[in-house]
Amino acid sequence: EFQTVLAALLKILPDYEDMLVENLVRPFILKDEDYKLLMDIMLGEFNKGLGKETNPTAKVKMYPTYVRDVPDGSENGNFLALDLGGTNFRVLLINLNGQEVTMESKIYLIPQHIMTGTGEQLFDHIAECIHKFMSNHDLLKEKIPLGFTFSFPCKQIGLNHAILTQWTKGFKCEGVEGEDVVRLLHEAIKRRGDIDVECLAVINDTVGALMSCAHSDRDCAIGLILGTGTNACYIEKLENVELWDGDYNEPKQVMINTEWGALGDDGCLDFVKTEYDRQVDKHSINPGRQIYEKMISGMYMGEIVRLAPEKLRKHGLLFGGKGSEELSTRGRFYTKYVSEIESDVDDHFKNTKQVFEELALEKYSDEDCRIAQYVCSLVSTRAAFLASVGVAALLNKMDRQDVTVAADGSLYRFHPHFHDLMVEKIQQLVKPGIKFKLMLSHDGSGKGAAIVTAVANRLRESGKE
Ligand code: BGC
Ligand code: MG
Repeated sequence: EFQTVLAALLKILPDYEDMLVENLVRPFILKDEDYKLLMDIMLGEFNKGLGKETNPTAKVKMYPTYVRDVPDGSENGNFLALDLGGTNFRVLLINLNGQEVTMESKIYLIPQHIMTGTGEQLFDHIAECIHKFMSNHDLLKEKIPLGFTFSFPCKQIGLNHAILTQWTKGFKCEGVEGEDVVRLLHEAIKRRGDIDVECLAVINDTVGALMSCAHSDRDCAIGLILGTGTNACYIEKLENVELWDGDYNEPKQVMINTEWGALGDDGCLDFVKTEYDRQVDKHSINPGRQIYEKMISGMYMGEIVRLAPEKLRKHGLLFGGKGSEELSTRGRFYTKYVSEIESDVDDHFKNTKQVFEELALEKYSDEDCRIAQYVCSLVSTRAAFLASVGVAALLNKMDRQDVTVAADGSLYRFHPHFHDLMVEKIQQLVKPGIKFKLMLSHDGSGKGAAIVTAVANRLRESGKE
């Protein structure tokens, strides 16, 4: 009697375990209607940010940049560019010659204590890197115009004036919020007194991506970043930009840096947030902020994933209940693991097992591999679909026939399915008749900055004559 009951129980146990797993991760699965609703919310927030009356209370700020037009291909000369905002800080030397672009670049580390130190330390460090770079390239005697790709929310008051409104991602340097970062850069350069560099333009990385892609594709009208953080910019008609304070000359359009990462900071995403999202937010350096970004981008994805298996493990549903110190350590499950695990295509689970080894997990079955892969795909699919909501909202708002979206960032680049998932979701969400392409934009932060700087430089030179 007992034996048969036990046998029957053991038979349904795997299904029962599947069900328990499913229960713990189900909150990551949103319905088509949810995504549709989220798109409407995003659209509403875009309009709120653009309106003069509504902007002060809007969370998605829709900052007008001072970049008005895509390049015409006639840009040329040598330029320096700085790229600050992701995991790496880079200095670049770019030569533009019509469609031909060559560049050299060097990555410099920004030590953790500087990322969360004072603004003065940060800009002194940047100036020192510029000096090193120029010295290595034998440029110390030259005067080269510089473009600054500064990938944080800024209120621009000119092409080379950008006031940081708040730090995001891993940065939190004292004394920079509310200040013009170009002024801080120039002051640091002056303190050294041994380099002759003037910053002519400051742009967001999304603008860089758009400009760089538009250099060869005239339909490009959206710049998208899916990397450490997430954000998008697009081309908007001046008549829709109520806060525009520049001139109304042709072209009557301007690039808007949406800063969509802040969607949800007023609670409008609470209905889709999971307990894992709430934990990630709580332990971040900017709790309550960048809620949409935290559900999507690379700085947070690994941690969201880690929390789910950790919970499954605690319930005895993974690794036979036995974890590791690594798996229990905040931030120790890197986002690149998600891409690696999802790149396993057969049931040898080569990458997945490699990740488990790196996390010092001792006992794992193929079933554990399958579950880990499943959790990763739920979190990355949600991220890709959420990002699609933003892109579709922009496409519907612009209402152009053909639009190329220039996309860049580590998540978009390295995740095996992100691109395809996005195309699928955007297609579902856009109005019929709108055609779009999602294109990888190469080196936007360098090339884009150089292009914008070239235009600024030409204007300045012609003004001098
Ligand atoms: C910043 C944006 C930036 C994005 C991608 C966000 O955290 O606020 O300005 O474009 O990250 O780098
Ligand atoms: Mg970057």
